[in-house]
Amino acid sequence: MAVAPGDLNKLTKAFAGQIVRPDDPGYDAARAVWNSMIDRRPALIVRPTGTDDVVAALRFARERELIVAVRCGGHSIPGFSTCDDGIVIDLSPMHGAEIDPERRTARVRGGSLLAELDDAAQAHGLVCPVGVVSHTGVAGLTLGGGMGRLQRKLGLTIDSLLAVELVTADGRLVRASEDENPELFWGIRGAGANFGIVSSFEFLLHPFDGPVTHGTVTHPIERADQLAECFRALVEEGPDELWTSFGLAAAVDGRGPIATVSVLHSGSPADAKRDLAGLRALGDTLEDSVESKPYLASQRLFDAPMEWGQRFSMKSSFLGSLPEELVRDWADQVSRAPDGAEGGISVWAWGRAIAAVPEENTAFTGRDAAYWAAAEIVWNDGALDADCRSWARAAADSAAPHASVGRYVNDVTEFGRDVARMIYGDAKHERLVALKRKWDSDNVFKLNQNITP
Ligand SMILES: Cc1cc2nc3c(=O)[nH]c(=O)nc-3n(C[C@H](O)[C@H](O)[C@H](O)COP(=O)(O)OP(=O)(O)OC[C@H]3O[C@@H](n4cnc5c(N)ncnc54)[C@H](O)[C@@H]3O)c2cc1C
Repeated sequence: MAVAPGDLNKLTKAFAGQIVRPDDPGYDAARAVWNSMIDRRPALIVRPTGTDDVVAALRFARERELIVAVRCGGHSIPGFSTCDDGIVIDLSPMHGAEIDPERRTARVRGGSLLAELDDAAQAHGLVCPVGVVSHTGVAGLTLGGGMGRLQRKLGLTIDSLLAVELVTADGRLVRASEDENPELFWGIRGAGANFGIVSSFEFLLHPFDGPVTHGTVTHPIERADQLAECFRALVEEGPDELWTSFGLAAAVDGRGPIATVSVLHSGSPADAKRDLAGLRALGDTLEDSVESKPYLASQRLFDAPMEWGQRFSMKSSFLGSLPEELVRDWADQVSRAPDGAEGGISVWAWGRAIAAVPEENTAFTGRDAAYWAAAEIVWNDGALDADCRSWARAAADSAAPHASVGRYVNDVTEFGRDVARMIYGDAKHERLVALKRKWDSDNVFKLNQNITP
């Protein structure tokens, strides 16, 4: 459905930012999102310069009943930040992070990427716990929860969120925090893409200086059991400063399938050496990349391998335990990942600062898990789409008997009415439905894991 040029004039009069239409030369670049499985053709892509533009674009869309997609970093795995025939409100010009070093806070605009918050905070010896690929959007990541390598010490990204300003479905600019609209602030922290367009976030920052000890110890997949044992011990006995993950990855480039343990230790180098001695004593590694490096270097390490333009599928769950039979099952599945794709399993240590926040404090569900685990697969050839998706589904099915309550909304790629109930559980889902009825009863913001009003 095209928007007629005469009609578009009504928007251009009220809108200061860029407007991209299907016949404009930049249209194909503007409509692309991170996951190249997603190929949609919006009627308009608009790039607001500020909240007045956001209000104008939203009003224009609502008057014409255009479907609305909201974009920050464009990393939504199921492609929620684009649409066919509707309007994409691409917040990328509204970006940047301002730090108040005295109050230890950051004000981050709604179209910013993680790198902007990381860089600005580190310039003052401060940090906000965020995700591990620095071209991910602050907005999408935060509104769903926000996992990262500092989570056992500093919690999820939402646990450092002080306030948001958002444009609501009826075009008002509203602030939500513990003191203002507290129920909305509860819902924003875990189901946040449902309630409005966030124009700015305010975060509490934490003192964080000096290098971190970060890297991966790699073994042949035959040692998966032994490595999993070592991983469980690190999770249980390691300090809050130690983030760790266990991985299994398919064979690529002539290398056989592998088992890995990755770590980021944010304590002193001496403490890291002591806490990682057991892992590094295993010997006969294929590779050991654990070393001291600046925090920002670790935050950029996966930017290139996870660059835009690849095809990607994932399924995740929270686990109550990581039993041996599951590790063996996954090792077997990883060895059978489709040729031409990079498939793997990633299991992250959960708990500590995440579990210290009571489950009922935020809409985010799953704080009580022992682990977060995901089957992830990356490929380039469209002919492999079906095989790769079914590989990820099968690997996720193996985890199902060990899953605990909740799902991480930012990973969920299934669609349907009951999906939100599965993510949040019955009680929180009902509370979210009441909130949705109050703030977006017409379901203007439906391109998300939708809370149906
Ligand atoms: C390469 C990669 C690495 C990742 N690493 C991590 C990680 O380490 N930790 C982690 O927790 N997650 C991670 N994720 C998942 C990530 O958190 C989600 O994909 C998240 O939705 C991306 O946010 P975005 O702003 O880039 O996405 P977008 O696609 O722009 O948006 C995602 C959702 O948020 C909504 N939205 C965007 N901006 C706004 C706004 N300003 N106001 C209201 N709603 C908005 C959109 O409508 C959409 O529903 C990763 C994803 C990828 C692809």
